[in-house]
Order: sequence, then C-alpha cells, then structure tokens
Amino acid sequence: MRMVQTAAECRRAVAESRAPGRRIGFVPTMGGLHAGHVSLIEAARAAGEVVVVSIFVNPTQFGPGEDFTRYPRPIEQDRAICERSGCDLLFVPEVTQIYPPGDETRVRPGPLADRMCGPFRPGHFEGVCTVVARLFSIVQPDVAYFGQKDAQQAVILRRMTTDLCFPIEIRVCPIVREPDGLACSTRNAYLSAAEREQATSLYRSLCTGRDLIAGGERRPGRVVATMRRVLDDAGVRRIDYITVADPATLVEPDEIRASVMLALAARIGPSRLIDNLPVDAPAR
Ligand code: AMP
Repeated sequence: MRMVQTAAECRRAVAESRAPGRRIGFVPTMGGLHAGHVSLIEAARAAGEVVVVSIFVNPTQFGPGEDFTRYPRPIEQDRAICERSGCDLLFVPEVTQIYPPGDETRVRPGPLADRMCGPFRPGHFEGVCTVVARLFSIVQPDVAYFGQKDAQQAVILRRMTTDLCFPIEIRVCPIVREPDGLACSTRNAYLSAAEREQATSLYRSLCTGRDLIAGGERRPGRVVATMRRVLDDAGVRRIDYITVADPATLVEPDEIRASVMLALAARIGPSRLIDNLPVDAPAR
C-alpha cells in the first residue's frame, strides 16, 4: 500500500495504477476506521478494483460547537487497517490540499439536505458535497463507496454526482453493526459504558418500528410514536428526529405503502448518533 499526502501525488499515483479493464474504487472516510469502513474497502477489493481510501477530517462539514477538534485521528492504526483490508493507495491530505488558500467555492445541495439531519446540522451537507466533489476531482474514481449508515448523505451524494455530471458509479453498502445491534461509528468511542448500553436502544427502536409495519401498521405517526417510546424507556431524551421516510425523497409519506426507511438521530452523552433501517411494507 502506498500513502500520499498531496493532491498532485494522489492524482499521479492513481494515473499510474490505471490499466485497461481495471477500475478505480474510492472509499472516502474521516478515519477512526472501524468494521463499517472496512466493509467498504473490502467491497471495492472484491470487485477487483484498485482501491483508493482517503482519510480527511473535513472541517467544513462540522458546525460551531461540534466535535471537529476532538474527532479521533488515530492515523497509525488507520493506516494498518487500510493495509490489512486491501487498500492500494491511501490519501491523507492536509487541509490546505483540499481547501487551498483563497478557496471560496462551495457545492450547495438542494432540498434533500433540508430534511432529517439538515435542520440540526446547518451547512453540514454543503460541507460534505464540497469535500466529496473535490475528492472526486482529485481521485477521479470509476466507482465510489458509501455506507447506508449515512443514508441521507448517500442520497444527497448520488444526486450531486448526477447533477454535476461526475462519471462515477455510486455504490451504497449495508450498515455494519456491533453484535448488540449498535451501528459501528467512530463516535461510539466517546460513549461511557452506561451510554454505550443506552445506545443499543436506537437499533431496538428501529426494529420495533419494522415489526409494527410487518404487523400491518401503516400510519407513520403511530410507528414514530412507538419508536419514540422505546428510546424514552431507555432514558434517551435528546432526540433530534425519528422519521418514516421515502428512501429516495426522504419525505414522510401520509401512509406507508411500499419501501420506507425508518431513521433517527439522538444525542447520548457527548455523541450525536444516527441510525436507520430500510423496511418493505408487505402488501395487504
Ligand atoms: P465517515 O468516516 O464517518 O465519514 O464514514 C465514511 C464512510 O463509511 C461513509 O460512507 C459512511 O456511511 C460509511 N460508514 C460509516 N459507518 C458505517 C457502518 N456502520 N456501516 C457501513 N458503512 C459505514
């Protein structure tokens, strides 16, 4: 595995690895790598692609008072994980490589970014679109891998890729969970033992919603209320949102008819955690 730190080196290294019939698979991350990230690297590997991973804690997607400065940066550990998982090229840029002096251009997403996490993290998805567009321009991959864990991000980035005419295929991989159901997240590391236990209620809440729909419930309000009770019983009080959303538009339907996504965000201790579960409503 080769590691590079500048945009120019990265572009050159990718160009050198291009070969007929060999696609470039790209996994953008912020580091603090865990099994979820590894699943994306392995997916690119399994597809026979040249695997490029970036590690960049992107300042523009953090709001004031968010965890930018204390976000974990265990670079040596991350490097070893990349190497073990089959990464070919690791790109770890400094901030000025992505945001050169004088930089002022931003990629602003549309209404998809106003839903779910949008109101709670103003400017977040603009930061995400801006960094991913720049990384796409530097790496020029054929395929880019994202996790269903950040479902809204994946929908917005798919839209951006189409709208900005990037010739890049977007693949979204399933959520990797801990044995007790908690979705793997770099931010789980902030949790105390008690908070970690409380956090298991997120997945329980999603499963309760899923079971309710499987049992015939079609009213989003009822599903959300029941999901909220599960969090409440676990002592989770700071809930940003719980929603039953159309997986493409992220809008809450009046009635659950086909595929929906149950999604939620809550604050537990110092962490803001998100999770979701795609659900198919059986025909009645
Ligand atoms: P991050 O480092 O948090 O920016 O995440 C980098 C990529 O890994 C994003 O596409 C995430 O959606 C994905 N990811 C994060 N956690 C998981 C998980 N538990 N399962 C699958 N993918 C994940």
